[in-house]
Amino acid sequence: MIPQQTHRPDLDEWARELLRSTDDWIVDSGVERLLAHEFATTDPRKWHWVDVYPRWPKEPDSAPTRMLDDWRSQEWRRIEFLYLHLPYCAQRCHFCYYFISTDTSRSGDYLTALRKEVRTFLSRLPADATAGDLFFGGGTPSMMAVDDLRTLYDEVYEHIAQDRIGMVTLELHPRTMRKDIHRLAESGHIRRVSAGVQSFSRPVLEANGRIYVEPDRIRKVCARFIEAGVEHIGLDFMVGLHTQTADDVLTDVRHIHALAQEGLIDSVSVYPRSFTEIWGPFSGEVVDERVLAEKFRCHLLYRHFFAELGWREGPMYLFTAPTFNAAVPSALVAATATAQSLAFGNSARSSFGDTQYLNRRDPDDYVRGIEEHGGATWADVPFTRAVRNRRHLHFGVKRGHFDEADLPAEPTAAERAQLDEVTEDLTRRELVVRNGTRVELTQLGMLLVELVHQEYDRTFPEPDSVDRR
Ligand code: SF4
Repeated sequence: MIPQQTHRPDLDEWARELLRSTDDWIVDSGVERLLAHEFATTDPRKWHWVDVYPRWPKEPDSAPTRMLDDWRSQEWRRIEFLYLHLPYCAQRCHFCYYFISTDTSRSGDYLTALRKEVRTFLSRLPADATAGDLFFGGGTPSMMAVDDLRTLYDEVYEHIAQDRIGMVTLELHPRTMRKDIHRLAESGHIRRVSAGVQSFSRPVLEANGRIYVEPDRIRKVCARFIEAGVEHIGLDFMVGLHTQTADDVLTDVRHIHALAQEGLIDSVSVYPRSFTEIWGPFSGEVVDERVLAEKFRCHLLYRHFFAELGWREGPMYLFTAPTFNAAVPSALVAATATAQSLAFGNSARSSFGDTQYLNRRDPDDYVRGIEEHGGATWADVPFTRAVRNRRHLHFGVKRGHFDEADLPAEPTAAERAQLDEVTEDLTRRELVVRNGTRVELTQLGMLLVELVHQEYDRTFPEPDSVDRR
């Protein structure tokens, strides 16, 4: 049972006050000025006040069995995040850039390939291996037949005992809920649920081609899972949806507050929709400065809401109730034998050792790849540690470098002084936090950097080819 949250009788007035204080914060912090002026400039000298460096490579290396070879070159005893991707959905939301399919006719082949990949990697683990979170994501995993889900769970449990896995999470669309999934939860297979809501506004979801589910139905779905013994329930939301405004988000926070107050949810993710080249606006959608600023305002509103509620702001746009503790850390294994994440399926991002791997293929290509390469993913795209640490902030004009060998030298003393000054300013604006010697972006900072990149790409269509040191 999730503990109840504080009750607020004056919810409407409180929500309006939240929006007022959010808008005040935007003005007081000077972020509005940055959004309105500095990000709209075409002068490259103004682009370097903050950046995430190095940027994602446009054409990373690719080698079919690289990830498996790397995995086999070391002994692993723990996987923090173990992810299985199930790529099927009832319909494709307009904004979705995932490798999903609405055609389930070959899902049997996909599941066979997925199990093979799981076996290929996990069969090397020792008997005392542990995992932090076993996460079935998608796509819409809750669309799958329960017997298929059970088979996948059993495949994993053959290699990592069920009682050595800290958390087991199933991602779902509330519309796909069925009694047999609740029964799966009752049998102890699901301990955390992550439900995609994105918005409680019917017009917003309709404008984005997403299936709408009434708040009351979502409430019932959560309540049934609690009855079934699920320990944690999280909801996913988005900002930057087509036509979405801060007023829509006010409606969302009212519903979220009610659900939290009833003890039905204890975490919420608020994903900012991305408008980059690959994940860009959908046909007929216009994204201009006003849209970007409203997205920023919506996210800020969520942030203030959760701060008011006393929830923590975590990485990757996650907000959690004070009582939330998803993964049970294991004291049994050495950190050196821990893989950060291992992900299987046609859209999967893994990270272990020094490297990050990204697999993105259509389901059928994935199935072919698994068959051709003996259980390894079709193509692995390695990112080395330098690229994985792209959330490091760099100051100074250092754009245009994607090659690790081409990394610039350490900053000079003058650059360091400038960095300290800018860091202090950005910390005051809540855009960065110091973490030891590192300076890291807050959620808000990530949104701003994203705006910088979009504007930069618009201004300089081929920034990769330009050396701006
Ligand atoms: S339900 Fe999720 S994965 Fe499926 S199309 Fe919509 S956003 Fe994409």
